[in-house]
Amino acid sequence: MSGFTPDAPGAEVRVSPNFGPRRETLVPDMIVLHYTGMATGAGAEAWLCDPASEVSSHYLVHEDGRVVQMVRESDRAWHAGKSSWFGRTDINSCSVGMEIVNPGHSLGYPGFPRRQIEAVIELCKGIAARHAIPARRVLAHSDVAPGRKIDPGEKFPWRQLFAAGVGHLVVASPIRGGPALRQGDTGPAVETLQSMLGLYGYGVEISGIFDQQTRIVVEAFQRHFRPRLVDGQADGSTLRTLERLLASK
Ligand SMILES: [Zn+2]
Repeated sequence: MSGFTPDAPGAEVRVSPNFGPRRETLVPDMIVLHYTGMATGAGAEAWLCDPASEVSSHYLVHEDGRVVQMVRESDRAWHAGKSSWFGRTDINSCSVGMEIVNPGHSLGYPGFPRRQIEAVIELCKGIAARHAIPARRVLAHSDVAPGRKIDPGEKFPWRQLFAAGVGHLVVASPIRGGPALRQGDTGPAVETLQSMLGLYGYGVEISGIFDQQTRIVVEAFQRHFRPRLVDGQADGSTLRTLERLLASK
């Protein structure tokens, strides 16, 4: 394919060969946000279009706000890998993927520039409108692949997106110390925590045992919804934030 008309008005088109058809009859009902985790945006753009990489994304958003579309929204891009949300595992078939240029945690993890976030907001609004994607389904790669991925990370300004009408959030409950559920704990309180995480969509086994997978999912939850402290311990602030999130529209 030499080119296509971008789904997002104003986007540049640079075609990636790394895509296929969406499986079954799946249509996009989720937006998954990533960071590129590479030294430069140009390098990331080349990588996502290199057949050898076998990865792609529908969109790439550069630091200066420039948007590049690489895969049509109707097609299946290869961005999420092994993932899960509400028990569904072929996330690539039901999502639109957006790579946001940022070198990531292993290369200093700078903040996201304002112009870049403004472009992300506009792009998300357009995608959500075209596919009737609900606010709760604008997610981080780390939400759908906890333990394996931590992008776009705790510096990503979810609050700014939410203030602009993108995504689902509550103001995190204050951190006050006190008792917390942590790895090794067992019992009904752990089962309740796991159930609540599962009700929101996270892939966690409900066992009543606060095991490693539970800690990893709690970290993923905190990274998105209580980013001030990502420690994998379900303290009062984490639990109240999760309860309020589940109760909010
Ligand atoms: Zn990612």
